[in-house]
Amino acid sequence: VVQVKDFDASARMSVVAENVQWFEDNSPIDYDHKKESVVGVSYKIVAAVGESGDSSPATPIGVNLPNANWIRVEHGSKSVSLGNIEDAYHQSSGEGMAKEFSFSTMHRERADNYGVLGSKMHTALHEVVGHASGKINPGIGTPKETLKNYSSTLEEARADLVALYFILDDKMQEIGLMQNKEAGYSEFDSYISNGMMLQLRRILPGDDIEEDHMRNRQLVASWAFERGAKENVIERKVIDGKTYFVVNDYDKLRGYFGELLNEIQRIKSEGDFESGRLLVETYGVKVDQDLHAEVLRRSAPLNLAPYSGFVNPEMIATMEGDSIIDVEITYPMDFLGQMLRYGSTSSFE
Ligand SMILES: [Zn+2]
Repeated sequence: VVQVKDFDASARMSVVAENVQWFEDNSPIDYDHKKESVVGVSYKIVAAVGESGDSSPATPIGVNLPNANWIRVEHGSKSVSLGNIEDAYHQSSGEGMAKEFSFSTMHRERADNYGVLGSKMHTALHEVVGHASGKINPGIGTPKETLKNYSSTLEEARADLVALYFILDDKMQEIGLMQNKEAGYSEFDSYISNGMMLQLRRILPGDDIEEDHMRNRQLVASWAFERGAKENVIERKVIDGKTYFVVNDYDKLRGYFGELLNEIQRIKSEGDFESGRLLVETYGVKVDQDLHAEVLRRSAPLNLAPYSGFVNPEMIATMEGDSIIDVEITYPMDFLGQMLRYGSTSSFE
């Protein structure tokens, strides 16, 4: 990824990293599983200028390195969000989807006004606070060793739950990142409807969920749905044959996210493979076939691709002697043309 730092957005978000110890101290996880001192989390927002290899044409919206747990513990981690990519995703997912799957005008308008802010806050909290938080008990192996094939799903769930828990905390107003709770409510709405149904449009009828992030989202959403069933905290409504998942009590739901976070942190800290396996297999893998068919039926007419790819902008330098005095940027719309151009100008043959 070739990138330019977004100085304004990075400065705005630096308060998250500055307060990372506060978040750890106030997290709903057991005291024994908290880090006494969270070290060296840095966070930047960048604009991607060009991408290749693993990051192209499908691109991540954020990168968090290093992967090795022991380096993170001793030296900390670096996190970047690709701001312009996040914006592009939002603009391309289109109004059709929001119209079709929002339960009411109120929900849709809130998503229009606060959806982008909510998702950016979620990403920042997920990356900076979520992945960096918590510690493993003495003598317990790394999650890859103890939780094996379930470790990535559980790690993503843990980071999402940290984000969901804190996005509705008064702290977000105190440190000036959100003026009110609307973006948090909007994020809860979209997380639940995505985890319960929307994301299913990415897989084929009859398939199980395989991808770690998708497993994590369904795990979190459907665990919370079941947890609050008696009190109708999340309500499944069917109107004119269309299913909606509507959040009735945001504070209670936030409490459930805290509970599940505590449990998943315990699983990671203790290396409790069996509990981890049970959570993922019970809530994250199997697909409700009727709901899946409904999502495919309702999203088909919107004609939106379930995955997106990006064409790179192209830059031509204007030279004056040996120095570049200007750069002309164009935005080609033709992916195949760009690949053929790269092949003829940049191939190694
Ligand atoms: Zn993550």
